[in-house]
Amino acid sequence: MSMADVFVFAGPPGSGKGTQAKLLAPKLKVPHISLGDLLREAVRSGSKVGEIAKNYLDAGKLVPDNVAIDVAEEAVKKEECRNGFVIDGFPRTLEQAGLFDRSLGKLKFNLKKVLYIDIPLEEILKRLTGRRSCRKCGAIYHLTYNPPKKDGICDVCGGELYQRHDDTDEVIKVRYEVYKKQTSPLIDYYTKAGKLVYINGAKDVSEVFKEVSKAVAS
Ligand code: ADP
Ligand code: ADP
Repeated sequence: MSMADVFVFAGPPGSGKGTQAKLLAPKLKVPHISLGDLLREAVRSGSKVGEIAKNYLDAGKLVPDNVAIDVAEEAVKKEECRNGFVIDGFPRTLEQAGLFDRSLGKLKFNLKKVLYIDIPLEEILKRLTGRRSCRKCGAIYHLTYNPPKKDGICDVCGGELYQRHDDTDEVIKVRYEVYKKQTSPLIDYYTKAGKLVYINGAKDVSEVFKEVSKAVAS
């Protein structure tokens, strides 16, 4: 029996990790795990994790590694991930990456590829200020690049669209700096491990997905 494959989406905020992960997961018939979504859910539910995470999310800083790792581990241990999964937004530090490698090994998962999506900073700003997300199902829209059919309403489930409050100019800048300092060293880490695939994210969603699909199949 082959081991269950894991695909990681990495890249700066707004590069399209969530958008691509939501396309890839159904194609592979595996769940999509988004660390950002799980943390926002924890904040909304008022759980212990949520109480800790709230201030970090609001400020655009990373939640402490042990918190991120606990949340990710709990998610991947679920029965539904048994045949593999797609994860975005985790790992985001070298510490997280090292511990993730170990837990994947223990749980008999095979980290297949890290799909690193890159886009320039000016594009990041345009993407994040126009981003809208569905409160109910998490679908991702953009006011000009990928608008919903009806203003403020999700095409998929009819839920209400909202703007994340960390998608402001000020917090986006912090997140970008945090990305450069704490997350970009992962590029080197996964290149050395032979796992990294570079994806040019500055194209249409469908064009990017073609590259992603090619990388996944190879
Ligand atoms: P984006 O889509 O802009 O990349 P996410 O939704 O993935 O943002 O993450 C939003 C916020 O959640 C981050 O700014 C950070 O506060 C927190 N977060 C998400 N993933 C992690 C992680 N792996 N480690 C620490 N904090 C995280
Ligand atoms: P991330 O998860 O990396 O933060 P998202 O997938 O949430 O990124 O995308 C950020 C914003 O950019 C969203 O509004 C999304 O609709 C839009 N977007 C994603 N991919 C593309 C693309 N290839 N071209 C144009 N807009 C995109």
